[in-house]
Amino acid sequence: MKRVWSVILVFTLSFIFTSEPFTAAAKAGNPNKKQQGYSQVDYGTDGMVATAHYLATEVGANVLKKGGNAVDAAIAIQFALNVVEPMMSGIGGGGFMMVYDAKTKKTTIIDSRERAPGGAKPDMFLNQNGQPIPFDQRVMSGTSVGVPGTLKGLEKAHDRWGTKPMAQLINPSIQLAEKGFSIDSVLAKSIADSKEKLSRTAAKKVFLRGSAPLKEGDKLVQKDLAKTFKLIRSKGSDVFYQGEIGKQLAKTVQEKGGALKLSDLNKYSVTVDQPIWGEYKGYKIASMPPPSSGGVFLLQMLKILDSYQLSQYEVRSWQKYHLLAEAMHLSYADRAAYAGDPEFVNVPLKGLLDPDYIKERQALISMDQAAKTVKAGDPWKYENESPDYSIVPQKDDKKIGQTTHFTVADKWGNTVSYTTTIEQVFGSGIMVPGYGFMLNNELTDFDAVPGGANGVEPYKRPLSSMTPTIVFENNKPVLTVGSPGGPTIIASVLQTILHSLEYDMELKAAVEEPRIYTNNPGNYQREKGIPAETLDKLKQLGHSFGSTEAEIGNVQSILIDHKEGHFKGVADSSRNGASIGIDGKGSKKGSK
Ligand code: GLU
Repeated sequence: MKRVWSVILVFTLSFIFTSEPFTAAAKAGNPNKKQQGYSQVDYGTDGMVATAHYLATEVGANVLKKGGNAVDAAIAIQFALNVVEPMMSGIGGGGFMMVYDAKTKKTTIIDSRERAPGGAKPDMFLNQNGQPIPFDQRVMSGTSVGVPGTLKGLEKAHDRWGTKPMAQLINPSIQLAEKGFSIDSVLAKSIADSKEKLSRTAAKKVFLRGSAPLKEGDKLVQKDLAKTFKLIRSKGSDVFYQGEIGKQLAKTVQEKGGALKLSDLNKYSVTVDQPIWGEYKGYKIASMPPPSSGGVFLLQMLKILDSYQLSQYEVRSWQKYHLLAEAMHLSYADRAAYAGDPEFVNVPLKGLLDPDYIKERQALISMDQAAKTVKAGDPWKYENESPDYSIVPQKDDKKIGQTTHFTVADKWGNTVSYTTTIEQVFGSGIMVPGYGFMLNNELTDFDAVPGGANGVEPYKRPLSSMTPTIVFENNKPVLTVGSPGGPTIIASVLQTILHSLEYDMELKAAVEEPRIYTNNPGNYQREKGIPAETLDKLKQLGHSFGSTEAEIGNVQSILIDHKEGHFKGVADSSRNGASIGIDGKGSKKGSK
């Protein structure tokens, strides 16, 4: 990479200590648990599907079995997840679909991230005194609802790669919504936790009986959602972006205080993007560029960690967690300072990944103690542009979102890695009455205090952390990774890649290996399973992991073993997911 040395402003952002409460879905917790006979791990010679819900996995696998390709299956899965995981994603939200096209050998992203409506105001999340409105209130307001992109994204993917009629891909979900399905533990806990939010909108009628949340094992029937899917089946996305659904959507958001108009839906367009590429241990990594912070900071952390040869230390050693925590602090400090929608602001991608900048950041890491204060660096030194924004400290009271990630590979070699969201569990809690789908609260991913890279502007996309990723060896996909979990997503994807490529772990073990997350020295989370003596040593170094164990992310992943000629799919035990492999020749079980 050509380096450009231009001395400009040295930013010294005092990093604000935040504490982000973790709102995990119920832990399913058993890595060997079967869902209706499906397992979290499966093998196949002719394709693979892994999602966070077995019914969605089944829908996707059926598309592959009937000769559809990975994109056909992904479209069908997104509709199915809207039905069976209605709290995590759907047509009221947005997402990033990464597609490796085996014919052209190109990797492309369909970016259906929500956008602010034309009437959005930079200070819309501030109260009369100029202070940020508390997050819990911002979430439920119509101002948090971004113009949804998912349906346009699915349509764009279908136009480019689809081989099966759209109607065929939506039909299984119409059936699921109409006939109903049994509520699982994750959905039941999500409804119970979101009771107050849901009670305020049309969602009450769907997810509560009177004032009592539906429980695990109850049947969830979604007639209005089935009607909406039928309208989409017969009229395409126009009925959503220009027609009756859009009219009702805009009216509903306005009644809740938002500015979203039907004309904003008319104007909405997806973008077709190139991944951001990096390398680790000889593997090429394609990940998500801005408006997500996911890819660039995943690659930055991998670069920071690369020269430490992490695998010289045990996978649960203090050295490994210490180095991870220090790298995370450095990268998340830069993330808070320099990332935003590239249609509106310059993001110093080159500087953030420049080898000399990485050396500067590595020099801040000591093996003897945790750094007490961590500041953003100055990646602009390595760019020939200058920043077109200031650095505005934020009081981060955001709750971590929980959405969904899934992945598909087909027998032709096409591969999909797709993270899709309505932001918080059940998004804004606002259901479009009569149409049965939840609206996102994605605009709370903007900074509440304007002026920085990620401030609110009309038509701008809020900064994301979603990190759908595909890893390549000899220019062929060998591993897909991704996770929900707001900012923790980047940490979950990082650790899955390290466990897999650096520690050479079997894929299910790599996904289940306890993860940590810390974005600054005031906020730490850890999963169950880290040895007590490791935690003691980390405490001595100055890390405050505390006594609470959390669930961090929910990784779905596929390993493509070109030598053995099979796919291995893995669903994370933190939800009731499943993998289904498609068998042509009979799969060989048991290899990595
Ligand atoms: N709103 C989050 C983001 O775009 C996604 C939420 C989640 O996946 O948990 O980063």
